[in-house]
Amino acid sequence: MSNFDRFGVVVLLGSIALSSAAKVSLGDVIMDEDVGANAIATTTKFEENPDTLIPFAATTTFHEPLWSKNQRNDPTSVAHHELLHAIGFASYHNMLDHLQPVNPATGFRNFVRNADRTGATLAKFTVQGKHIDPKGGVINGFDQNTSLMVPDSIPGRQMGLFEKSILDTAFDWSHKNISITPKFVGPFTATEMGSVNNAVNAAHTLFNSNKSGSKFTWTVTVDQVPEPSSFFVFGACSGIAVLSRLLAARKARASISTRGNSSVGLSNMTGRKLDRRVPLLAAFLAWGAISAWGDPGEVSRDDLAGRPVSELLAALDSKTKHARVAATSELFRRGRVVLPELRLSNPQDIENLHPKRSDVVYHLIAGFEPGNYLKDSFGLYVERNADRQEIIKMGRRRGFFLEEREDFGFNHNPNCYVKLQPGKELEAVLRDVLSHERNVITVSLNLFEN
Ligand SMILES: [Zn+2]
Repeated sequence: MSNFDRFGVVVLLGSIALSSAAKVSLGDVIMDEDVGANAIATTTKFEENPDTLIPFAATTTFHEPLWSKNQRNDPTSVAHHELLHAIGFASYHNMLDHLQPVNPATGFRNFVRNADRTGATLAKFTVQGKHIDPKGGVINGFDQNTSLMVPDSIPGRQMGLFEKSILDTAFDWSHKNISITPKFVGPFTATEMGSVNNAVNAAHTLFNSNKSGSKFTWTVTVDQVPEPSSFFVFGACSGIAVLSRLLAARKARASISTRGNSSVGLSNMTGRKLDRRVPLLAAFLAWGAISAWGDPGEVSRDDLAGRPVSELLAALDSKTKHARVAATSELFRRGRVVLPELRLSNPQDIENLHPKRSDVVYHLIAGFEPGNYLKDSFGLYVERNADRQEIIKMGRRRGFFLEEREDFGFNHNPNCYVKLQPGKELEAVLRDVLSHERNVITVSLNLFEN
């Protein structure tokens, strides 16, 4: 066991202990979010129409044996809950436009009437995830504690008028004639398919749909996960999150010393360490190559080295491919010293389906916060001249792949979701992609709801 490994084990054990303690002291919010519906199913890969911003597709994975093979749970109720995440209770633009920031005094996020986040409160959401807070009280005559969309799965609950009023406010589903097509991937029993179809039919009925309008593809799949105590799951996940952050910090320190003496650093690396450092080192070497030899039409490092941060920032969201890639690299090279200046431009949260490149770059330099996003997947926005084949080749260069059954297209945001190759780290891959791939406009997180 190398020192590196020993360090990892100590940190992992320590952080599991710490996070278990944290869970107890953080209390009900985390309890609610981590127990119940969360363990039973997960909805990801949200896509919306780029022009109308209407939800277009999402994928739900039902976790067995909890979903349908556990007497305590109601698989149909779970399907209803997840379908409402899929078609609206998620970080879609039209949903976020009605959600106020968390009120620190009450701990709620108010869902309000108007799309500029003003007007009457129609529901109180939880802090984490797009859920109705069961402690929100009675709003417009409806007791929030009886909603299908509370974080916990309550047998017998189904979608109803309260949830309909929220989704109509955000998406106007009652006038869209939504047509939901469930796409079954993998083995489903007839009973399980019945639960999924029950939810789809209920949605068509709830929104008075004749199914002639907005098409929505609901991909559903099942996986097998052991049924651990939620306490352990939380501890382990937090431990891994803490560990990965510490390792990332360690890696950043290593890369600084590598820059000081790159040839010595390279020859001393073991295979495992080499693997961890290659993306950073490669970025550094590529940068050197570009600046040394230049490239007609390329924005060279020398050109950018003296440029003010505001200028680099403006280049990030420009339509000039080489300018945005070069500006991205330069900001990554300068590192955290640019953060105060970037903050002046009021960077936005990136937990939405279409973050700006400048916002992603800001959060990559600052370090991603934990949140409702997958660590082994992300969304891509590419130029119109790119095609499926190019995404596949890009993935080989940068450490991700496009699954066979995954859609790629310009009629939805993002254009596709890709998965990281085993052992790759999300933030490193995103930095690499944004620093080099000219056809990439921006990237998004693969957000999830449970
Ligand atoms: Zn949920």
